[in-house]
Amino acid sequence: MKLSYDEVVRMLRDRPEKTRTYEVESGVIERLPTDTPACLRPMNEDEVRELADYLQVSPSALRGPFHVVDHTCSSCARTTTFLDFVKTAVDAQVHGRDTLRSVLTDAEASWVTVRGRDGGRPVMCADCGDVLLGALKCGGGEYSEYSSATYAYA
Ligand SMILES: [Zn+2]
Repeated sequence: MKLSYDEVVRMLRDRPEKTRTYEVESGVIERLPTDTPACLRPMNEDEVRELADYLQVSPSALRGPFHVVDHTCSSCARTTTFLDFVKTAVDAQVHGRDTLRSVLTDAEASWVTVRGRDGGRPVMCADCGDVLLGALKCGGGEYSEYSSATYAYA
């Protein structure tokens, strides 16, 4: 079952216990950024290529534009991108690389991960493996830490 925009917004106001990913109706993701503080930056071409290499697809197959929270790893100074979130999920076996490739290249479906009251998933730096601390959440209320045309974390 796909969630509507209203259902997603309701869940953001009264968050479920556990962080979970839901398939959503088309158009929902495009509307979510209106609730998002200006803490996301667009990913540059090199960063999109790095993500594409990891997913073993061509950069043009990925359904951007990709936005990510503006953050730098405090251990190795890597600039945080979508890849850090993707690699964390694959390494933790939350999602397979094939699944994530489908999600980020699919022209039909879109998904939103709703952070639960469990606080969400820790994110590891793709370079040094340290947990990325602080500044990953951009302000209170409704926000998105990273998004593409087909996927958002809210
Ligand atoms: Zn690092």
